[in-house]
Amino acid sequence: MRDFIVRIGRIGTVVIITLISIAASLMLTYALMTAFGMEITLPPMLIAALVPMAVASAVSWGVVAALFRVHHLEAEIRRVATYDMVTGLMTRRAFFSTSESIHRIACRNKTPMSVLCMDIDDFKRINDGYGHSAGDAVLAFFGKTLSQCARKSDVVGRIGGEEFAMILPDTDLAGAINLAQKIRNTINDAGIRYSEHTIRFTVSFGAAEINHEEAPALEALLQQSDVALYAAKGSGKNNITIYQPGGL
Ligand code: GH3
Ligand code: MG
Ligand code: MG
Repeated sequence: MRDFIVRIGRIGTVVIITLISIAASLMLTYALMTAFGMEITLPPMLIAALVPMAVASAVSWGVVAALFRVHHLEAEIRRVATYDMVTGLMTRRAFFSTSESIHRIACRNKTPMSVLCMDIDDFKRINDGYGHSAGDAVLAFFGKTLSQCARKSDVVGRIGGEEFAMILPDTDLAGAINLAQKIRNTINDAGIRYSEHTIRFTVSFGAAEINHEEAPALEALLQQSDVALYAAKGSGKNNITIYQPGGL
């Protein structure tokens, strides 16, 4: 019903409500006049049509406007909850709920699935050196790069301040590393123009692939790639590290 109202628009909805009110009023007036044995003449029927035309159109105009406002606000709340404002990527919450279903499908079909965790290196220095909005420009650039490098079926999210993650369905570890190299090369080659500065930055990557024999939960898989990311930070940053079961 609400979808229909949205589709026909505010004016269309008000016209329909007014027409229904006029029809109902005419039928009621006709039924009452017939029941009381009154002669059906034009003046009472005209009044029966004009009153709802004025009242229903005025009242429904306000009510429909409020309905449209609620609909608009709901869409806005959904958008803010799903997409991060700085990068346009999925928020942490949306990322996890979308990834859960991809993980479930991969477990059921026993298809490969990999996870990449990424963290911008020395991001605090960018904020401190160029200002918070320069940091935001770097985040936005990195988000755009991830979207451009990802397949449509990949899930990309900003899961923390300058931490990002990707779920890669039908992708083994070799594929995940390939993608990480592509992202890393793009970032290393790029310089972000910010006022009179050119900001360069690097990113560290941790990669893990699902092992169907162990059937790890999504959280465990993300934890594995986070362990690998931590190792990448420890070994000098700006590199890609693979999760090794049993320790890195
Ligand atoms: P490392 O190489 O070890 O990752 O160091 P780092 O400086 O990147 O990491 P650290 O965790 O010390 O700093 C992260 C910084 O990210 C601190 C925080 O203020 C900043 N940050 C978090 N969210 C935002 C944001 O939305 N915009 C900006 N500009 N900065 C943010
Ligand atoms: Mg960092
Ligand atoms: Mg961090």
